[in-house]
Amino acid sequence: MAEIRLSGIGVSEGIRMGKAIRYAHGVQNQQFADIAEAGVAQELKRLAEAKEKSIQETEKLIEQAQQTVGTEKAGVIAAQKSILLDPTFCPEMEKLITKKLFSAEKAVEQIVKQVAAIFENMPNEYMRERAADVKDVGSRLLAALTGAKDINLADIREEVILIADDLAPTDTVQLNKKYVLAFATQKGGKTSHTAIFSKTLGIPAVIGIATGFDQVRDGDTVIVDGTGGICIIHPSEATIRSYSEKMAKESKAESAWQAYAAQEAVTQDGHRVEIGANIGTVADARYAVEQGAEGIGLLRTELIYMSEASLPDEETQFNVYKDIVRVMGDKPVIIRTLDIGGDKELPYLKIPKEMNPFLGYRAIRLCLDQKPLFVTQLRAILRASAYGRIRIMFPMISGIEEWRSARAIVEEVKGQLRAEGHVFDETIEVGIMVEVPSVAVMAAQFAREVDFFSIGTNDLVQYTLAVDRMNEKIDYLYDHFNPSILTLLHTVVQAAHAAGKFVGMCGGMAGDPKAVPLLLALGLDELSMSATAIRKVKHAVSQMELKQCNALLEAVLKMSTAQDIRLKVDAFCAENGI
Ligand code: PEP
Ligand code: MG
Repeated sequence: MAEIRLSGIGVSEGIRMGKAIRYAHGVQNQQFADIAEAGVAQELKRLAEAKEKSIQETEKLIEQAQQTVGTEKAGVIAAQKSILLDPTFCPEMEKLITKKLFSAEKAVEQIVKQVAAIFENMPNEYMRERAADVKDVGSRLLAALTGAKDINLADIREEVILIADDLAPTDTVQLNKKYVLAFATQKGGKTSHTAIFSKTLGIPAVIGIATGFDQVRDGDTVIVDGTGGICIIHPSEATIRSYSEKMAKESKAESAWQAYAAQEAVTQDGHRVEIGANIGTVADARYAVEQGAEGIGLLRTELIYMSEASLPDEETQFNVYKDIVRVMGDKPVIIRTLDIGGDKELPYLKIPKEMNPFLGYRAIRLCLDQKPLFVTQLRAILRASAYGRIRIMFPMISGIEEWRSARAIVEEVKGQLRAEGHVFDETIEVGIMVEVPSVAVMAAQFAREVDFFSIGTNDLVQYTLAVDRMNEKIDYLYDHFNPSILTLLHTVVQAAHAAGKFVGMCGGMAGDPKAVPLLLALGLDELSMSATAIRKVKHAVSQMELKQCNALLEAVLKMSTAQDIRLKVDAFCAENGI
């Protein structure tokens, strides 16, 4: 079979080769191609086979359900069989294949969308819920057509390359690195949380594969090159040889960087920057220490919420925070309060769908609105502060009033704990993420009130440049080297330091070795990143002289385009062995 090369966005470095396994979840939103007229008969045959297979699978499910949940409830699944046998459902798909030359997949997708929309718009709630059955039937038909399996990701027990239309952050955190060698998806931007978590887990990944994605079949041999942003199906002998060499080179570089884990990040002329890790779990904390983290610059607490079926109570959270702090010993741990919303969902919170979730009801806005939830988390964090060096950080602050309200609740909770006789760090520092441009612009005003800042470039870039971090179509516009971003970073660091405040960075830019010279010159006190990036960044710092980085920054701040800045930075990095 001929080799096929698909390009996407490499979001987690590393090269892996293995057998593809297609994950069915989310197949419905894939883009499917049209067919040639000569292919109509073949397409109708594929659809008929998929229908037959789906009927058989549904019958099996009905039998299983009768045994496990009883005949009455099994009726729900029986209704799905009736959808498949409906005299118009599949015939309408056949019409699209013959008349419009749709592929079988595209026809299924179209009809499922139409029929589901009819149910969704019905006034009766019971009927509205039937839309989910129609979509389920659609998923099964598509799975039969593409060879995708509706698998439980956490149960994968053989080495595979996972191929999925899209992975939700909740899917990604379930992946076991031992078995899921790499993954490739059709959707997603480079700072989507799926991308971020793949880096945290150390699973090479290519996402946002815009064209040709439907050509990958279950069982195909696939190479995922997370470094180059390429996915190769049916690699030729020559490609396998050259990629094997590349893999050997990568593992050699990995071992060379190993030595940097135990070292501090110091430039050749003695300037030191603190290196932290972004984590979500106790296991991540252990791995971060192994990789050389000198602290936790960002604990994404939403991962704790995402791994539960309902809101985690104070005790559950307290134990996780305490365990993490204990793993870190005397190293600082910045705990960010719940940052849910955007692409991170908590199904049990039942937040209505929004047109612009990244601009909507999320993070600190939700916490201030749902005060009991916020108080529970703050109580757990404060109680854990008796066991180590914790700092509290609020996400997505956009105005001073919001900061003051959140800060006041911390004081209120401290009062409660005091009255109950709990021990906690009375002088705990409270800071904010700088990820909304309004905060960067007003950094001087905030600096008078907050204890510290941490810049979240993932969101700061999307909000400043009006580029959705999830949208692969406009990924080319998403660039932390954009001059507007560098100007904002400069403003924030200057304002923080003028007020004697600590300013770190925990967005993806901090883990980009090429951004290191500019971040050093900007004067950031700390860089916090996925643990997998630590050794590489420490190596990059060690190769540079602050004096030269300062000169580079001075030149770059005068430039007008991201492209010019990249060229200049690339040349600088090449000269310094980065
Ligand atoms: C950021 O926005 O840069 C950040 C670190 O937060 P998150 O990626 O979790 O939105
Ligand atoms: Mg953010």
